[in-house]
Amino acid sequence: MEDRILGLHHITAIAGEAKRNHNFYTGVLGLRLVKKTVNFDDPNTYHFYYGDKVGTPGSILTFFPWEGVQTGRRGARQVTEIGYSVPENSFDFWLKRFEKKNVIYNKVSEKFGEQYLTFIDPDGLKLELTASKNPDNRLPWETDEVPAEFATRGFHNVTITTNKLQPTADVLTHIFGYKLLETHVNRYRFITDAVDNANIVDVVEVPGEGAGHVAGGSVHHVAFRVKDDNILMKFRDKVAAAGLQITDKIDRNYFYSLYFREPGGVLFEIASDNPGFAIDENVEDLGTGLKLPAQYESHREEIAAVLPKLD
Ligand code: ZN
Repeated sequence: MEDRILGLHHITAIAGEAKRNHNFYTGVLGLRLVKKTVNFDDPNTYHFYYGDKVGTPGSILTFFPWEGVQTGRRGARQVTEIGYSVPENSFDFWLKRFEKKNVIYNKVSEKFGEQYLTFIDPDGLKLELTASKNPDNRLPWETDEVPAEFATRGFHNVTITTNKLQPTADVLTHIFGYKLLETHVNRYRFITDAVDNANIVDVVEVPGEGAGHVAGGSVHHVAFRVKDDNILMKFRDKVAAAGLQITDKIDRNYFYSLYFREPGGVLFEIASDNPGFAIDENVEDLGTGLKLPAQYESHREEIAAVLPKLD
């Protein structure tokens, strides 16, 4: 088990205004900001990590908020939906909440025998709340407005839109150890039994769909989870052996990473559980401090001065 892909690690998307993004994910959705840091390649912009209490892989949605970013477009060669797991009895709560908070949402629908509620964030990013058929015992983060009984449990699934199923499916099955579970029209549901949650990838095949444009309100990449950086490097060999270009190991402070573009055009990352988000903050304090990588620490004052205010 331990040397396998353990479902999703995190998903990274692009947002516009930092404050609006922060208000939506911590306020409306009730996630915890588990890390407030900067874009390592562009330290005058934030990198937010939202998740559960301890930042468990499989619960982490991250954003690069760029003020004034142009709006992206959903399309092929992209992750087009992000699915959170919620308890079955929570839809009334969320419908009322979305109505009150002026969130754009759709009526509750069903796919693969599971009810789900689609909504979009203030930048147009498409998300879903799904009542999983399988028990989800992950502990939620709780806020004054979003009690544990209704709160999100972490990811349920992620959806990729592709022009051609097979090349993407091959990476999921041959390299990552997923299996095709069910098909509905052009939606193919892949699952791994290496973990119990955050273990589903849906691939939607739309041959004529134009490529999406990655900008505000769209997903930049999806990261799959491995136990540690030794196993990470074993997957590096597997991906390279399949003839795909893959980066060297990158230290992201909270995990180690590799990136490669799957043949369907989506940027995939593989990320390790180690060292985790508690490496530079106590669990009680996660997300409260501005965390900078070592190379920017000497510029802390200038960086803090230009970052947008969040309250
Ligand atoms: Zn990432």
